Amino acid sequence: MVLGLDIDGVVADFLSPFLRVVEKKIGNGPIPPETITDFNFKDHPVLSEKIVDECMAAVSYDPGFWQRLAPLLSAEQWQKLDNLGRKEQLVFITHRYVRETYDIHEVTCDWLKRHGVGKPVVYCTQESKSKLVDHLGVSLFVDDRHENCRDVAENTRAMVMMPHRHYNQSFDHPKVKRIRNFNELFSYFP
Ligand SMILES: [Mg+2]
Repeated sequence: MVLGLDIDGVVADFLSPFLRVVEKKIGNGPIPPETITDFNFKDHPVLSEKIVDECMAAVSYDPGFWQRLAPLLSAEQWQKLDNLGRKEQLVFITHRYVRETYDIHEVTCDWLKRHGVGKPVVYCTQESKSKLVDHLGVSLFVDDRHENCRDVAENTRAMVMMPHRHYNQSFDHPKVKRIRNFNELFSYFP
């Protein structure tokens, strides 16, 4: 049984530092995370898709941004992931952009190693995640973005879990299980 994990918003805190980047760009004071009710930033009082896209592009060229992300898991949870990794039961699937100026794959692997995953297997893709999930034989997939959860739930045989976040709260799908505690997924790996 193979666990497929998204990184940003699942094991790494992407939103808080990203909002700092956006705030700096707009210069209009702090943007509370709870105002983000949709990751496409539609209907947000301050953010527009254009500003968000520009900030997303900016951080995609900044290796330091990814290196500095804070982990969302406890030491014990990292340890459990490491155990799965050593049994070749763990892959990370991310939509992080690959740029020619530095190696995001290496930066990501180093970050995961720093937090305790000894031999991380990371795939950076711009395609639908369902393709890799299928190809890699992932049986349990976890992602915080509802678009990815829907894609994998509807196009693969993998079980799909979505950690509860403010920005995915309105999503509901019969094949996507919302989890409030990351430990819930470990019950599938005795
Ligand atoms: Mg994510």
